[in-house]
Amino acid sequence: MSIDSRSAECLVCGPRETHLPRMGGLLRRCTGCGFSWTAQQQSEAYDEDYFATGGYDDYFRAQPRRFEAARRLRWLLSVVRPTVLLEAGCAGGYFLEAAHRAGLTASGIEISEAASRFARDHLHMPVRTGHFETIAPTLTADTICAFHVLEHVEDPRAFLHTAHTTLTPGGWLALEVPNIASAAARRLGTAWPGLQPRYHRWHFTPTTLTQLLHQSGFDVIRQDTAVFRYYMPLGYRLRHARHLLPADLIGLRSPRLTHPRRGDLLRVIARIRRTRRSTR
Ligand SMILES: [Zn+2]
Repeated sequence: MSIDSRSAECLVCGPRETHLPRMGGLLRRCTGCGFSWTAQQQSEAYDEDYFATGGYDDYFRAQPRRFEAARRLRWLLSVVRPTVLLEAGCAGGYFLEAAHRAGLTASGIEISEAASRFARDHLHMPVRTGHFETIAPTLTADTICAFHVLEHVEDPRAFLHTAHTTLTPGGWLALEVPNIASAAARRLGTAWPGLQPRYHRWHFTPTTLTQLLHQSGFDVIRQDTAVFRYYMPLGYRLRHARHLLPADLIGLRSPRLTHPRRGDLLRVIARIRRTRRSTR
């Protein structure tokens, strides 16, 4: 077996910075930029089990997924007017469904056979099964969305390069990933639900995600964070208020569900940088 290249250097800084163990050796953390990555290899299996365990038990349940999809779409449309939207890692297809209902042309790419079949058979969404890096270059889009994808992929730089080449000039990229710089992650350590070291290779902060996007030819147009409760329908939030609300109030020092930097989930809208050559 070859040496895992992820142990060798920081994805953001390259080999010039050293990295140290974090969380009892579960992660490595770059001393230069604070970017972290899981030291061990991850599970490669994105099957029914993946979507049925580890906090994904409600993955195909319509109500929370539709609520989440509506919030994500509203956030996207507050900045971008997509014409042709492509979603990487579209899972069960609920965001695509919301986009279609809003009148957008939208399709998806999903690595899980089970999830993509669900999206096609139950929601009738146009979803291709396979790797984004393989399929996307055969398509074109002015907006690419990837919610909770970048922390899973083998090579985030390759993913961002594919997004860059698939997008039309001035195209948009919307991302959401767990925020390891969140108040909850710092307080809970290995018990933080966003860590998922079995599946998450890469652990972003607002700063390191911005750096990586910049290095990949994107400018960050909007960035903020949300707590987990942000995506839970009101009834769920009320039922779980007793243990979630006090933690969020302490972490964010605010009753709001979003925060510039301290929430659990980091979301970014970036745009392909207009170089001197491409602007006339
Ligand atoms: Zn670094």
